[in-house]
Amino acid sequence: MNEADRNNLIIDAILEAYRDLGITEAFLPREVEAETAAPPGQPDPRVQLMEELRASDLGPCSRCKLHKTRRTIVFGDGNPCAELMLIGEAPGADEDLQGLPFVGRAGQLLMQMIKAIQLERKDVYIANVLKCRPPGNRPPEPDEIAACSPFLRKQISIIQPKLILALGTFSAQLLLESKSPISALRSRVYEMPFGRVLATFHPSFLLRSPDKKRDAWEDLKLARRVLDGQA
Ligand code: URA
Repeated sequence: MNEADRNNLIIDAILEAYRDLGITEAFLPREVEAETAAPPGQPDPRVQLMEELRASDLGPCSRCKLHKTRRTIVFGDGNPCAELMLIGEAPGADEDLQGLPFVGRAGQLLMQMIKAIQLERKDVYIANVLKCRPPGNRPPEPDEIAACSPFLRKQISIIQPKLILALGTFSAQLLLESKSPISALRSRVYEMPFGRVLATFHPSFLLRSPDKKRDAWEDLKLARRVLDGQA
């Protein structure tokens, strides 16, 4: 088998994997855009602002009861100058161990999803509504949200992303100040005072309900259009 045949087999296998995900179209790579607003040669101030928020403002947080049961604070990860910010609910067991958001099974699916719109983990910023794991992955409680969400708001205001992708009911309801289910909130872009928000299904839900991956793919295509200035 020559190299071209081998490459074709690899491409077939990749496309097959995408089809399994419900992804039926491919985007061509786009020109990489300038990532920062800083003048050429100057570091973007958002990098330092984010670090100060983590180290000085949040610190070794004990503002809510979750500090007693967490192993690690999961502050956020990725590029503070990103155009796309992804916001989930709260760290799970893997994230609590590693100190990074979306590194378990749901995280792997999330990475496949963003790869399908020509992005990688280093291109986006990923955070959660809560920075500490609720015991047994129970839903966040009001006092925990009250203590933690100001840090998420601050992260959003530092990054000023072109688009926020809210992952799942909890994140979507909080950011969109709504009580509607995710199935009603998804698939359109909301203009919120702090930026544009699109909601989609949480990757953990997609692992349990793979038939919804097609809808999630439609949302991701809309996200791509927003990032490209076409929506
Ligand atoms: N689920 C979330 O909402 N966030 C994570 O970081 C991991 C799983």
